[in-house]
Amino acid sequence: MDVLTTPDTVQRWSGRRRKAGQRIAFVPTMGALHPGHLRLLEVAREHAGVVVVSIFVNPIQFNRREDFDSYPRPIDDDRRRCEEAGVDALFVPTAAAMYPHGFQTYVDPGPLGEPMEGTFRPGHFRGVATVVAKLFLSVRPDVAIFGEKDYQQLAIVRRMVIDLDLGIDVVGVPTVREPDGLAMSSRNRRLSPAGREAARCIPGALTAARDAVAGGAQRAAEVVAAVRKLVGDEPLARLEYAEVCHPTTLERVDLVAEPCVLALAVWIGDVRLIDNVRLDPP
Ligand code: AMP
Repeated sequence: MDVLTTPDTVQRWSGRRRKAGQRIAFVPTMGALHPGHLRLLEVAREHAGVVVVSIFVNPIQFNRREDFDSYPRPIDDDRRRCEEAGVDALFVPTAAAMYPHGFQTYVDPGPLGEPMEGTFRPGHFRGVATVVAKLFLSVRPDVAIFGEKDYQQLAIVRRMVIDLDLGIDVVGVPTVREPDGLAMSSRNRRLSPAGREAARCIPGALTAARDAVAGGAQRAAEVVAAVRKLVGDEPLARLEYAEVCHPTTLERVDLVAEPCVLALAVWIGDVRLIDNVRLDPP
């Protein structure tokens, strides 16, 4: 596995692979790799002969300094996991390599970046779109793999690829979960044992929402009320938002007449977790 640390070395590395006629799949991450990430690597391998992974805790997408500082960075473990997964190149740039002195050009998503995460993390998706665009232009992959866990992020990346004519296939991968249903996340390792127990209310709430819709509930407000109740019953959890939205425009939906997505963010102590579920009316 080649380990690369600057955009220009990645560009040259990828350029050589492309010239040799190889297809490149790219998996951007912030590290602290878990089985959810490893699933993305497997999907990448199904799509291309060459797999490139990036690990970069992107400072410009964090709106809370403590969250950035406390983000786990087990780089030696991550490197070993990538090697074991057969990754061809690992790109681990420094913040200075990505945002050198004088950096000032950003990618601003449109209305897709406004609701839900956009409301509670102002500037987050501007940071995400900017770093993903930069990573895409360094790696120049044929296909890029993203998790559905970060549903709004996936929708924004798909839109950006169209709007900026990037010519990359974006593949979404279903969320990988713990046996009790909690979505795997790098942030889970910051939960205390009691917090980890409390976090079970999240998959509980998503299941309740899905079951309510499958059982004929049509009003989004009713579905959100079920979520509010389940999270509200857990003393260590605080619901930041729960919203039923259209699967591609992310516009708020009042009636669940067609397939929709319920997305939520929950605080467990000082750890913020997001998740979502597809709602399919009967
Ligand atoms: P992150 O390192 O959290 O920025 O995530 C990197 C990529 O992995 C993103 O595309 C995430 O959506 C995806 N991802 C994170 N957790 C999961 C999961 N539990 N299942 C599937 N994909 C995931």
